[in-house]
Amino acid sequence: MSNVAYVALGSNLGDRDAALSRARKALSEINGVRILRATEIEETEPIGSVRQGKFLNQMVAISTELSPRALLAALHRIERAAGRVRTVRWGPRTLDMDIVLIEGVEVSDDALTVPHPELPNRDFWLRQLDELRGVSDG
Ligand code: ATP
Ligand code: CA
Ligand code: CA
Repeated sequence: MSNVAYVALGSNLGDRDAALSRARKALSEINGVRILRATEIEETEPIGSVRQGKFLNQMVAISTELSPRALLAALHRIERAAGRVRTVRWGPRTLDMDIVLIEGVEVSDDALTVPHPELPNRDFWLRQLDELRGVSDG
């Protein structure tokens, strides 16, 4: 069984472009994961009150044979390999990978909520999601 999932990539520390491209490569190398489409990379202002640099963001559509929890664990491994250090929530990071949505799947437990609860509040995620799902605004 495979599902289509949308994963948001973000970086605001170090070589941000390189972090995103390594993240895409690492995603594609997970067993049972294929990258279907990717949005353009865009720059966004940081969220929250921590003073920090702007983010580069990109969303990718993947097909995945992993369970949602196994996918999250794989994303966390990729973040760690990118040198991410967890400090404060919404603080600066070399790489952040969030599961935005999985078609036909809802998850709600302590470690994982899908669709991501912040989706309605993040215009660039909504836009990128529309782009990947082929929704036109005409
Ligand atoms: P936000 O999730 O609001 O974008 P953040 O990305 O800065 O904030 P993190 O510190 O990266 O937050 O993640 C905190 C925890 O959120 C993770 O350890 C993970 O268990 C949990 N989490 C819950 N739902 C999701 C999801 N859909 N995608 C990624 N992580 C999630
Ligand atoms: Ca995030
Ligand atoms: Ca995250």
